[in-house]
Amino acid sequence: MNPFHNDQPLFGAFEEPTDMLHHLGSMQKIVIPRRRWRDEDEVDVAIVGVGAAGGVLLQRLSRAGLSVIGFEAGPFWDTERDWVSDESGSRNLYWNDLRITGGEHPLALGSNNSGKGVGGGSVHWAAFTPRFHPSDFEVYTRDGVGVDWPLSYEEIEPYYELLEREMPVAGPAYYPWGKPHGYPYAPHPMGGVGDTLIKGCTKLGIGVSAGGPVAILSASRGDRPHCIYRGFCIQACKVGAKASTLITHVPDALKNGAEIRDESMVSRISINKYGRADGVVYFDRDGREHFQKARIVIVSGYAIETPRLLLNSACAGHEYGLANSSGTLGKYLMAQAGNVIAGRFDELIRMYKAPPAHALTEEFYETDPKRDFARGFAVQTVGPLPIAFAKQMVAAKGVWGWGLRRTMMDYNHWSALGLLGEILPWEENRVELAAGPDQKDRFGLPVAKVSFTLHENDKRMIEFGKNKVMEIMRAAGAVEVVQESRYAHLVGAARMGFTAQDSVCDKFGRTWDVNNLFVMDGSVMPTQGSANPGLTIQALAARTADYILSQKDSIMNGQQRDLAVPPVRKSLCPPGTFRSGIPHF
Ligand SMILES: Cc1cc2nc3c(=O)[nH]c(=O)nc-3n(C[C@H](O)[C@H](O)[C@H](O)COP(=O)(O)OP(=O)(O)OC[C@H]3O[C@@H](n4cnc5c(N)ncnc54)[C@H](O)[C@@H]3O)c2cc1C
Ligand code: SF4
Repeated sequence: MNPFHNDQPLFGAFEEPTDMLHHLGSMQKIVIPRRRWRDEDEVDVAIVGVGAAGGVLLQRLSRAGLSVIGFEAGPFWDTERDWVSDESGSRNLYWNDLRITGGEHPLALGSNNSGKGVGGGSVHWAAFTPRFHPSDFEVYTRDGVGVDWPLSYEEIEPYYELLEREMPVAGPAYYPWGKPHGYPYAPHPMGGVGDTLIKGCTKLGIGVSAGGPVAILSASRGDRPHCIYRGFCIQACKVGAKASTLITHVPDALKNGAEIRDESMVSRISINKYGRADGVVYFDRDGREHFQKARIVIVSGYAIETPRLLLNSACAGHEYGLANSSGTLGKYLMAQAGNVIAGRFDELIRMYKAPPAHALTEEFYETDPKRDFARGFAVQTVGPLPIAFAKQMVAAKGVWGWGLRRTMMDYNHWSALGLLGEILPWEENRVELAAGPDQKDRFGLPVAKVSFTLHENDKRMIEFGKNKVMEIMRAAGAVEVVQESRYAHLVGAARMGFTAQDSVCDKFGRTWDVNNLFVMDGSVMPTQGSANPGLTIQALAARTADYILSQKDSIMNGQQRDLAVPPVRKSLCPPGTFRSGIPHF
């Protein structure tokens, strides 16, 4: 039987490339038909979630010649048709389905949280792409808090270098924090918010990075245009200047024969009588249930949906959830402190006229014995558009009615900076299955219940960090400064570790309990530093792809576990990664 058929072209709306090729985005240039495997075909790899990590895995593994299907609960975005440069029109980029939140400091879930659709959260991310620092991988050894990672900075460093070229990342030629390094593309020009950060930091003698690191093109590359500075990055960047795996990795995956089964919600990972994963059960867009056979299963569904799926996959021998013999599944969920500090200036700032992400400082990143807390924080530009800003002003100033209207009339005079602070991993911060009768999704699956509570170290860090950002804002010349408490970037909840007793998976994301089942996304992080997680998530995914390729036969057929570090396969980078003439003005 022919395993390829074209009953599901990319919405059927695309035509063969024509002489108007240069007007098309990378998705529109993909030649149909796309591959489609039948459920009864046993593919090499099934990836659950084609987001930041899933997109990279799909690309690497398909380029290496494996048969791979990426299951994605959300749609396959047609960037021309589905994306708009408009705040309220971009709400459906998010995972808006029911989730239950709780704990003493409940996290806001839903819009402005995790993504749903091919590209996942990399579609709506602001694309700040700092690396983790070497200290992040050994916080317990250095500072006596959290846990150490089962890998070192040196192990991930080659993948940082690759991903920074694959996206690619714009930033200064010399970046001083963590292990100093430079970026392949020139930094971006400053917007009004960046100016305030630079001005405030300079006045206070704080080092600051202008123009990146951010995965936004500062010069055109291949079929992608440079940034046009209209500030709709969190609304997905319709023009394609901002990196998302939908733009950077998925096109190459499809060209190499990968299949993306969009609007397909995986409900359970199937375990056979030998204790191995043999495929995934999923619901298609019409709610019909299917089973897809696979030799390896990788879960890349985000720090909430990954533990939810593993918990929903409980079965004989795994009664408390799949890969949960350690009892750590769902636990040690982390969010970063994401307080927004807004300042009003007499002069015009025009926050919207630049990518929100374009300047930052990591001067406060490391533990400082002079402070009363361990670890630290970064300060970054945020630059909210009007709807987000209005919500922040309601929370920060308590304004409503005429007061809110008056504040919004001044929108162009406001600047907004973000604290990005390292909250430590705590066992009680966790994802569980909601037990209420109404707490199920449209397929009848229990939804996630997320509990979050700050501890003393976290509170002290937030207090100090928030005051420091307010000081920077005042030093920049703000005449009024207010702040909103919030959180950003959920990671953890299926952490990697050293042994089957302390974690869900090993340092390559391979679960301790099921030899051919991997977890690879932000949920594997044991700690989170004060760097935005997206670059590290994608670097870890590329490394796991190399590992799977090195250990392929033993993963598919054997039971032994070899943790030897695989060779870095640069040959698997998407075409154009090492293109010469990289502009660095
Ligand atoms: C407003 C905003 C701004 C951000 N800005 C930055 C930034 O500047 N820099 C940065 O580094 N990070 C940023 N982030 C965070 C970043 O987007 C995430 O950390 C990252 O995308 C997480 O990657 P992931 O692979 O873990 O999951 P995701 O990218 O969320 O991918 C998971 C995918 O799995 C799919 N999925 C889940 N469950 C299932 C299932 N059962 N079946 C099928 N599919 C499923 C989801 O639909 C989703 O597409 C931002 C986040 C937000 C909300
Ligand atoms: S500011 Fe640049 S990266 Fe952001 S949406 Fe506009 S073009 Fe895209």
